Amino acid sequence: MKFSGNNVLVTGSSRGIGAEIAKTLAGFGLKVWVHYRSGAAEADAVKDAIEAAGGKAAVIGFDVSDEAAFVDAIKTIIDSDGELSYLVNNAGITNDKLALRMKTEDFMSVINANLTSCFVGCRESMKVMRKKKFGSVVNISSIIGETGNAGQTNYAASKGGVIAMTKSFAIEAATSGIRFNSVTPGFIATEMTEVLADDIKDGINAKIPMKRMGAASEVAEATAFLLSDHASYITGETLKVNGGMNMA
Ligand code: NAP
Repeated sequence: MKFSGNNVLVTGSSRGIGAEIAKTLAGFGLKVWVHYRSGAAEADAVKDAIEAAGGKAAVIGFDVSDEAAFVDAIKTIIDSDGELSYLVNNAGITNDKLALRMKTEDFMSVINANLTSCFVGCRESMKVMRKKKFGSVVNISSIIGETGNAGQTNYAASKGGVIAMTKSFAIEAATSGIRFNSVTPGFIATEMTEVLADDIKDGINAKIPMKRMGAASEVAEATAFLLSDHASYITGETLKVNGGMNMA
């Protein structure tokens, strides 16, 4: 795939979908900022794998819920590289409970980690990208942001918010040469879904037209496409990567 930009920050790329996105983008020649919150050793391993394959990477750690830390991290990248061409807001959490048992702090912790952090990342990257009149941002939402799900009112609200917010950024940034898109993965095999009981996984697979969970690499390829020059006239789009679930 062709990329006119040079570097990318992928939040939450110490493992799971983010790690695959980081490796995929490095394979297309971008310098990748591999990001972690607690998994410094895992982030180093992702960087080592990228470099062993001939790519360029750096590691950066911060909590995306900490606005000042996110702002500082973008500054660190600009001080080092002079630019930020691409951002993938991928870091995310779940904290599942039925709504009647969900405390407001359980709700807000997921909103802060998944939605507010994404807002800060979009806003801060837009500030630096507009100086070069170039940039592309992909926000990793979820199929749950489109459908809702029992036990996930917090997660669904955060991911639905990401979809709508991405469209709003896309409109505001369109004349600045910056594109904003989101990806809505279905059920993808990572540590986030590994915790589900086997009967729940079987039930989910039965509802997927392709009858299997997705691989993180399949989300990474779709993300790379939206970031790349090949998607130059696509902005505000929500790309489903879900094996055919939720086709409506
Ligand atoms: P994962 O395996 O649990 O990895 C989450 C990543 O996010 C880790 O690198 C983690 O860093 C980082 N992270 C979490 N909270 C953070 C915070 N407050 N500050 C900084 N980093 C933080 O998750 P995943 O399954 O790869 O999911 C990645 C994204 O895809 C998430 O946004 C998720 O909602 C979305 N998604 C996943 C699925 C799925 O089926 N797996 C489906 C739809 C959407 P540390 O480990 O270093 O703490």
